[in-house]
Amino acid sequence: MTHVETNQHPKKRLIDPYNRTISYLRLSVTDRCNLRCTYCMAEKMQFLPRQKLLTLEEIRDFGKAFVTLGINKIRLTGGEPLVRRGIIGLVDSLASEEGLDELTMTTNGLLLEKKAKDLKLAGLGRLNISVDSLIPEKFRQLTRFGDIKDWHKGVNAAKEAQFSNIKLNVVVLKGFNDLEICDLAEYAIANEFDISFIEEMPLGVTKSHDRVQTQVCCGDIKQQLSQKFELIETLERTGGPSRYMRVAGTKSKIGFISPISENFCGACNRVRVTADGRLLLCLGNENSIDLKSIIRNHPGDENMLNEAIRGAIQNKPERHYFDPSRTDILRFMNTTGG
Ligand code: SAM
Ligand code: SF4
Repeated sequence: MTHVETNQHPKKRLIDPYNRTISYLRLSVTDRCNLRCTYCMAEKMQFLPRQKLLTLEEIRDFGKAFVTLGINKIRLTGGEPLVRRGIIGLVDSLASEEGLDELTMTTNGLLLEKKAKDLKLAGLGRLNISVDSLIPEKFRQLTRFGDIKDWHKGVNAAKEAQFSNIKLNVVVLKGFNDLEICDLAEYAIANEFDISFIEEMPLGVTKSHDRVQTQVCCGDIKQQLSQKFELIETLERTGGPSRYMRVAGTKSKIGFISPISENFCGACNRVRVTADGRLLLCLGNENSIDLKSIIRNHPGDENMLNEAIRGAIQNKPERHYFDPSRTDILRFMNTTGG
């Protein structure tokens, strides 16, 4: 299958061995976080030593290099991107990059109260804000110690800052938040947000729950939602794996991200750079190269960096094979750049 998303000159496109155009970079700015969501991290996480983390300048240089090579969308992520000092300056330095159509961020929202306005002024476009429950006790349980009041303050600040679009991300776990699916959608609709429901991926060993028991497939989520809302099929995409449905009579779209129940790798257009500078070619495989060593050992050698990236893209796997009963991938989502 061919996935051509831009009219760029062929030389300025990254094309993998399966003829997929790679146009989207998820750029992780830290593995650290102010929460410990049970599906994302171990309770006692060992974070990377500071000297292993990319500096802000290195992150910026990677972003620019990828744009030169044809990436037109970058999402800043982590860990929690807003715990990284200097994040506003980073957004500012990337946002105006010629050839970059969209700079976005995924955040847990807690620090938006202080940072939403400056992020918007610095040029951040759309915002994805994660939330798995609006019930204070459940929110605390899923995040291990988060306070939903801080989340609400952050979301209000994001609304005031008038981002072009806000989307909520919900990971659904049976027995934890599966009965709240319609309430979360209702909340999104009332605020004119979009919302995506995500199947949990088996990344990193988690002791807090059994992933086979808690798995909920998008088909079941859709079923629940369609009892309450009139869902209208749409072919709209926002450059990610979400398949969207419009909610009749509202401004909101509901997205479904189904890495387990319905493979979407045929349309994959993305790669990730981890907080320690690894170019990771697929969430569900370990194919990667160490880009940090290249820029630290050969500072300023743009040609070498570009060639390394081009070469790595040829090693992008065809697809992932997630199975909730097995944890083949030991890296947690926070070290992956979700
Ligand atoms: N800290 C930010 C946040 O929570 O939005 C950004 C990083 S977080 C790793 C990015 C997204 O990955 C979040 O929406 C989170 O819910 C999701 N995520 C984390 N672990 C996951 C897993 N095992 N399976 C599916 N989604 C996961
Ligand atoms: Fe932190 Fe985001 Fe992972 Fe939750 S999902 S622990 S907020 S990085």
